[in-house]
Amino acid sequence: MIARSKYRVLLLVAAAGCLYILIQFLKPSRAIVESLDFSQIVYDRNGTVLRIALADDEKYRIHTHVDANPLLKEAILLKEDRYFYYHPGVNPVSLLRAFYQTFLRDRKIGGSTITMQVARLRYNLNTRTIPGKIKQILYALFMELSHSKNEILEAYLNIAPCGGNIEGFAPASLIYFGKDITDLTLQEILFLSVLPQNPSAFHAKTPSVENGLAEARQCLFKVWRERHGDSTAAPFDMPLNIGYDVPFHAPHYTTALLQKYDREQKIYGTIDLQLQETVTRLTSRYIQRQKHLGVYNAAVLLVDADNMHVLASLGSADFFDDEIQGQVNGVRSRRSPGSTLKPFIYALAMEQGLIHPMTMLKDAPTSFSEYSPDNYEGDFKGPVKAWEALVTSRNVPAVALASQIKEPDLYDFLYKAGVGNLQDKAHYGLSIVLGSAELSMVELVALYGILANDGVYRELADSYESEEDRAVRPRRLLSKEVCYLVKDILRKNPRPSSGNAAMLQEVDLPVAYKTGTSIGFKDCWAIGLFGHYILAVWLGNFDGYGNPVFNGRSLAAPLMFEIIDSIAPHIEKSTKISLPPERITRIDVCAVSGQIAHPHCLRQIPTLYIAGKSPIAKCRICREIYVDTRTGYRTFRTDGPSIKKQVVEFWPTDLLALFKKAGIPRQVPPPFDPRESLAMLSTTGIPPEILSPLKDTEYILSRSDAAFNDLPLLAHADADVQEVYWFVDEKYIGKAHPDETRYWSLAPGVFKIGVIDDHGRSDYREIRISVDSK
Ligand SMILES: [Zn+2]
Repeated sequence: MIARSKYRVLLLVAAAGCLYILIQFLKPSRAIVESLDFSQIVYDRNGTVLRIALADDEKYRIHTHVDANPLLKEAILLKEDRYFYYHPGVNPVSLLRAFYQTFLRDRKIGGSTITMQVARLRYNLNTRTIPGKIKQILYALFMELSHSKNEILEAYLNIAPCGGNIEGFAPASLIYFGKDITDLTLQEILFLSVLPQNPSAFHAKTPSVENGLAEARQCLFKVWRERHGDSTAAPFDMPLNIGYDVPFHAPHYTTALLQKYDREQKIYGTIDLQLQETVTRLTSRYIQRQKHLGVYNAAVLLVDADNMHVLASLGSADFFDDEIQGQVNGVRSRRSPGSTLKPFIYALAMEQGLIHPMTMLKDAPTSFSEYSPDNYEGDFKGPVKAWEALVTSRNVPAVALASQIKEPDLYDFLYKAGVGNLQDKAHYGLSIVLGSAELSMVELVALYGILANDGVYRELADSYESEEDRAVRPRRLLSKEVCYLVKDILRKNPRPSSGNAAMLQEVDLPVAYKTGTSIGFKDCWAIGLFGHYILAVWLGNFDGYGNPVFNGRSLAAPLMFEIIDSIAPHIEKSTKISLPPERITRIDVCAVSGQIAHPHCLRQIPTLYIAGKSPIAKCRICREIYVDTRTGYRTFRTDGPSIKKQVVEFWPTDLLALFKKAGIPRQVPPPFDPRESLAMLSTTGIPPEILSPLKDTEYILSRSDAAFNDLPLLAHADADVQEVYWFVDEKYIGKAHPDETRYWSLAPGVFKIGVIDDHGRSDYREIRISVDSK
């Protein structure tokens, strides 16, 4: 009686168990592997796997479709479960045989169907015990009720143990053969198909398991040949080229993508693995050569300007080197750009009609409201042409131009071009010209992308996902004419350490580039446009320790050119040439003044010029005068036997002083004959121009600080002027040499400040002076 009730209870428990499992499986059908976490994979632009990340449970698992490789599917069915499509989840014949062998003869033998294996793997069953085996059988039966055959087989393809922490055949083919599952050869397929039989074999590498696997392969191969005929498969005596190589390319780049798209299983990157490897190899070799100088680290970014896709991205010289903080991504960290922003100052100055490439700029010691820039070499060149000032990276002319450009000035421009993390404008002042605003390589490349894309700003894309959700729409920030001129100038920048390389560049592949060196020699840059590429190179050490070797031209530019030279042969010829925009014309300017030439300017040179935008001032330096050859004096008379027409240079006094400082002698025009009427004098030449006080400026009289209560009076005058005379409200204040500052004590009110030169030519300015209310 008691035995019978015990039996009933047992039966009841078993029935409840079955019911529970049935309910589990009859719930709305879910994919068997749905709740599993899969690896994220990053592909390059050609579909090559760059990186496969571990799933949450530290496994490599890649979701693959049941029909991804029909041959693999066939081989697995041949090996594991030939009657898979015909049994109800359990194969009674093989099960009985296995039961008999395992438990009665103590010889372990399989006998599990694929469904049973999926049940064991997916639900972690211990099938070495009889209850475990029964559970496995029940799970398999129920699994067949709630899932299609293909779903079950697909689950097997995805979770079969393939050695180490590799689960499924897709990561196995990737890690062992470096191939997508669809590209496997028959040999490789047969190799993989037998792996789940003893997944530890690959790592254990003991002869017995290896022999076991080899035997299993031969066995499977025999069966395969029986089915397909002798000719279909190569024999297995060839060694298989197996490695255990988890793809880990472009680590900084892929890490950033994995973080950015942490919900995506497949991330389609824009980089090109081949270019990435070229850049990595060249950079690493270059660093090896420079190590003895204290150069340990570099970052490189290569972008396709046509779509702003990142093609290669190197975050540091060695990701695995902790001593150089190799895991820091140098492409994304912000630092001083040195002089690399100068082209945009010239671009804005051209945009605002202030200069053309031949405009003469002053390179002289100058103060700009308490900011006194030095040139990199600490010298001053005197007057210098705009294009030359940019190519030779002179600081003073760049700062002078920056002080004149407005709406937008450089700060506004950077802001519009998406440079982040900017402090307010006043924080930088004019020092922004020389790199006081820190920006990342990504931001710098985006800026040069504006030049490459004829004035249109486009955000960089590092993946095809990011291309779709680029936050900023493309927008025009410069005209195409100005971009054309700036690129034309930057192409004249000679290659480092080759005297006349501007010429060499032209015949080979023109490179428009600029270098930059940070203040204190902490690091340096080179960034260039060639073909349809933009390439930026940074060299430095992440610890920011200064070292005079960090010079953009001598350290960064050579690496940039090494990379360019290795890519150049692959660039299509047609992308090397671009035609000038319509409004770009050629015009002759005076070689002396850089202003538009008069017919009488003796030396004339052509320049590129933007019709309707570039400055139209004609040469004011070369003037025709009449000289009496008997006396050598200048004269108002235009005819007579001894009167001769001459072209003479009339330099404003400030430039004349500059030439003198730079050691370049300039002729001064001869004085007028003192016997001629002085009244005529004021009708010739150019009147003086007041430089201080400033136009439209209200001056504040300070109660507390008397030192600020003297107003400087300064004017520059024409070349033939010796003295200027200052007046306030017609009252004479005193005389001075041109370019010599006089002072006048401020008083509240409105005043008319005037200057007259010794030829009777004059300039006036009205100013308002008020009292500081504090
Ligand atoms: Zn001239």
